[in-house]
Amino acid sequence: MKERKGSKVYFASLKVKDTGFLEKLDNLFEGSGLSMVLGENKLVGLKLHFGEKGNTSYIRPLFIKRVVHFIEKGGANPFLFDTTTLYSGSRANAVDHIRTAIDNGFGIGCPIIIGDGLFGDRKQEVKINLKQFKQASIAQIVFSVGSIVAVSHFKCHLLAGFGGAIKNIAMGCASKQGKLMMHSTVSPYVDEEECVACELCMLYCPADAIAIDEKAVVDQKQCIGCGSCIAMCNTGAIKIQWDINLCIFQERLAEYCYAVAQLKKGKLFYINFLLNITPDCDCFGKSDTPIVPDIGVLASQDPVGIDQASCDLINNSIGNEGSRLRKAFGKGTDKFRDLFPKVNWEYGLAYAEQIGLGSRAYTLEEIT
Ligand code: SF4
Ligand code: SF4
Repeated sequence: MKERKGSKVYFASLKVKDTGFLEKLDNLFEGSGLSMVLGENKLVGLKLHFGEKGNTSYIRPLFIKRVVHFIEKGGANPFLFDTTTLYSGSRANAVDHIRTAIDNGFGIGCPIIIGDGLFGDRKQEVKINLKQFKQASIAQIVFSVGSIVAVSHFKCHLLAGFGGAIKNIAMGCASKQGKLMMHSTVSPYVDEEECVACELCMLYCPADAIAIDEKAVVDQKQCIGCGSCIAMCNTGAIKIQWDINLCIFQERLAEYCYAVAQLKKGKLFYINFLLNITPDCDCFGKSDTPIVPDIGVLASQDPVGIDQASCDLINNSIGNEGSRLRKAFGKGTDKFRDLFPKVNWEYGLAYAEQIGLGSRAYTLEEIT
């Protein structure tokens, strides 16, 4: 276990007196040292989640514009990016993903790039030699870009308890193969009811692991877990096996975030928006009532510190009646456990700290 040194997490509350919230955001970016990870004339990727089609709780493009302007003022060259998703939906390939981003309001005059290519196969391996993975499969863009600013919508998550900075970088910078490796211990399978035997998956499978015998069949021994077939199938017949141990899932997330942090040492910054804190992630095609009132925005160079601080601020808020919370309405109650009793959300943070990704101990500095 590494020694806890504590990290600085900067906080702009939504409460305003003399300074408006947009101005407060500028003060937060300035005061938290965001400029330190940006280089003059360098390409800076803002790692976002543009929201699935139908979702309404992703970060408002107005706020993203503010980050973009701050970076431009410092002389760097920002763009927005994400990667293709593992499941079939409105962001499974680069074209659909960009179209969804624009439909969701992200046509803000800043280029949008999908960082793992048209079908999610532009990737490179990085050695990490950790418990779950010896190497991680990371989207190509991470290797080329100057700096990355992870702008994350902080909300709850079915498998990890919460999704913030660590998950945004881990899942969002992984290749399709990496995403599959984190989500599943085994290969995808075909739901025969939904398969129309179109052969698309078979044509795109790089390992010749799919045969059509009236319906598509995945050869589990041959499959390399790249996830391409999931993206190619138009009927959603290829499914992920979600039956993995949840602590293993959290360890895998932490290890993938560690891989990106190693690649971008001193060039990675985290901003968490604690607004619209919904019970589900933005991959869902709809958004439920937020579990607590809006809180504000955090910024830090430590993904563990910023996620721990985000969880603490949420648990110290009063729960929204009428939300999916069952009992944890009081200040100081564990909202994440209340929503997902089987998920030990703190385990992921403890493991992230153990592998040296950051510190759960932090000091919160309020920016006005
Ligand atoms: S792409 Fe989908 S529908 Fe077509 S054969 Fe494969 S599993 Fe069946
Ligand atoms: S995950 Fe990749 S290797 Fe496995 S069946 Fe699908 S396309 Fe083929």
